[in-house]
This record gives sequence, structure tokens and C-alpha cells, in this order.
Amino acid sequence: MKIRIFRFLQETYAEGPGKRACIWVQGCLMKCSGCASSHSWDLNGGYEVDVDELINKILNTEGLEGVTFLGGEPFLQSNELSSIAKKVQESGLSVITFTGYRYEDLVLKNNEHINKLLKYTDLLIDGPYKKELHDISRPWVGSSNQRYMYLSDKYKHLENNLDKYKNRLEIKIKSDGQIIINGMANFEDLIDIIHNM
Ligand code: SF4
Repeated sequence: MKIRIFRFLQETYAEGPGKRACIWVQGCLMKCSGCASSHSWDLNGGYEVDVDELINKILNTEGLEGVTFLGGEPFLQSNELSSIAKKVQESGLSVITFTGYRYEDLVLKNNEHINKLLKYTDLLIDGPYKKELHDISRPWVGSSNQRYMYLSDKYKHLENNLDKYKNRLEIKIKSDGQIIINGMANFEDLIDIIHNM
């Protein structure tokens, strides 16, 4: 089975608690104004990768706490992602899934693949990015309407401790000169980082 993604990082500390693998899927229909990853909207963009290949890479990475699914819209590829999530959870790691849809609307769809991805998600971060509600004071989210939905007990302890987690920005420079940036920071912090590089 193939999945269409625009990025895979085997290790990051910027997309949820602990060291995580992160899959950014390709394709989103929401078209939120101010979306930071509009290059991920095209359903035919990005590239295809074998689901088993991603599972192998994730399960063979030392010290991972879990995997995070970002987009694009993860629930447009819920069949593929739920297969990954199931294997990841069965190996004792956690699953965080971001979505532009609201949890209630996903449940109402009553779709077997969507239900399976919800079943194998520990923490769902839901809701579209809303420019007028821009707020990055909470970890990993971009606007104040977005919710942390604890779908298992795994991250319930975060509920009253989210302020202990700070947003991070990761900048990696690969040997071929390619620069990879992920995570979240406000503009002033970004300028500071660039000045101190
Ligand atoms: S749901 Fe996410 S990826 Fe899709 S348009 Fe909105 S912010 Fe961008």
C-alpha cells in the first residue's frame, strides 16, 4: 500500500512530546486562510512512499516516543495512516494525529478507515487553522479554536500540564546543503534564531 506525503522526518522534538517520527501527508481540501503549508494542498503533489517502508523506519528508530501525523489532511488518507498507527501502537509507541476537521464531524462520517485511525490515535489535535484566532501560546497548535482530544489514557496527564511544553523550531542543514525547518516559533523568535546562526 502506498501513501502520498510531502515530508517524513525520522526524528524530531518539535511535533509533540518527546522524540517522534513525523509524517506530513500530501493533500488538503480545507484551504484555510493563512495556512503555513499551502504547498501540501494539491492532492497529486508530494510523492508516494510504501506504507511498510515507513513502518520499518519508524520501528527501527531508537528511542522514539511515538509518531505524529500532520498535513495536509491526515484523514484523507486514513486507510494508510491507520495501518501505520496500528503497528506503531502495537509496538508500544504513541500516536498523535492533527486534523483540520472537528472530532464530532469525523465520528459522524461513520467511515471504517476514519474510525480505525481514531481508534489508534492517542491524542487528536482537531480543528482548522483560523487566522483571526492565531495563537501559538499553546504547544504545537496555531490557533485558539484547535482542541486537544485525549482519545486514550496515554496523554491524559498533559491535560493540566500543557504549559510545561514549549513550542520549538528545528532547523537541520543536511550534507547536501538542503535546509529542513519544522516546528513553530513566533516571528521575533525566528529573527533571533537567524541573527544567532
Ligand atoms: S487543515 Fe491544515 S493543512 Fe489544511 S489548509 Fe487548514 S491549516 Fe492548511
